Amino acid sequence: MKRREALTRMAGAVGATLAAATGVRAADGADDAKKLTPSGLAPDRNTKTPGFKAPPGSIDTHCHIFGPAARYPYSPKRSYTPFDAGLDDFREVHARMGIERAVIVNPSLYDIDARVAVDAIAASGGRYRGVVNIDDRVSDAELNALHKAGIRGCRFNFVKHLGGFPDMAVFDRSVKRAARLGWHVVLHFDAKDLPDFYPLLDGLPLPYIIDHMGRVPAKDGLEQKPFKILVDLLQRDKKCYVKLSGADRVSSTGTPFHDAVPFARRLVETAADRLVWGSDWPHPNVKAMPNDGDLVDLIPMFAPDAQTQKQILVDNPMRLYQFEA
Ligand SMILES: [Zn+2]
Repeated sequence: MKRREALTRMAGAVGATLAAATGVRAADGADDAKKLTPSGLAPDRNTKTPGFKAPPGSIDTHCHIFGPAARYPYSPKRSYTPFDAGLDDFREVHARMGIERAVIVNPSLYDIDARVAVDAIAASGGRYRGVVNIDDRVSDAELNALHKAGIRGCRFNFVKHLGGFPDMAVFDRSVKRAARLGWHVVLHFDAKDLPDFYPLLDGLPLPYIIDHMGRVPAKDGLEQKPFKILVDLLQRDKKCYVKLSGADRVSSTGTPFHDAVPFARRLVETAADRLVWGSDWPHPNVKAMPNDGDLVDLIPMFAPDAQTQKQILVDNPMRLYQFEA
């Protein structure tokens, strides 16, 4: 072995030991060369108090913490720069929404750096869990440490605006490792790609959640092929969960996104025991910035009866994320 190679390996081993001790590490090359000027829309800071009162213990299974970048630097490889939306804002918006618990989905712009999620979970007194990005760079010791820290799933993006499909060999290896920990995988698709992934989803070795109701465009109606595939998967495949989130991404008519309701209703009629709900605060890459109070008020339109609401907001995510009662 050449000297340089040996040194590199040694440095890697030291890094892995440190990571195993803390369970987290920075993404490779975390120094930030890109400008920190945020792109897109700023979150609406005036969260309305919703009319709908979520049941006690309700869980927002899809929300993000962005920075502050000065403390938790974004990956230099990221595809966008968000507005900082830190833990204090995160807590405040949930208090306004009347939501007690949350699953922090570590966004693509943190790559495999899970520190922002892990720190928030550690400070939550058992009220938060997390989902992170993983690949071959994350060691088994790190995965175990992430599990201990409250991570219960990994996420893969297949959407064009976040860089397109992952390396499928890496994906296969990663989901096998996640399955061994009893995790699930969260999948973010563009609706038009869903039919192509049907065989892959069917064969997955672990439960999976399809984000944002498959991002089906409401204007294409309930009979569009991607939505039929989604409903069929949910009906037939007990591993399949769907996230009732991103009404604003589904909607073709805009605020207050009521044209997304029939899609959620159909999913609720199909398998309410495998649906979870998420706000997607602080709403990166949206065309119209939703108010989170309005999003909470969509829940009783999605699922009119209290028992189904509790299933979606409490029982299903409790089970999937192994929250303690
Ligand atoms: Zn999101």
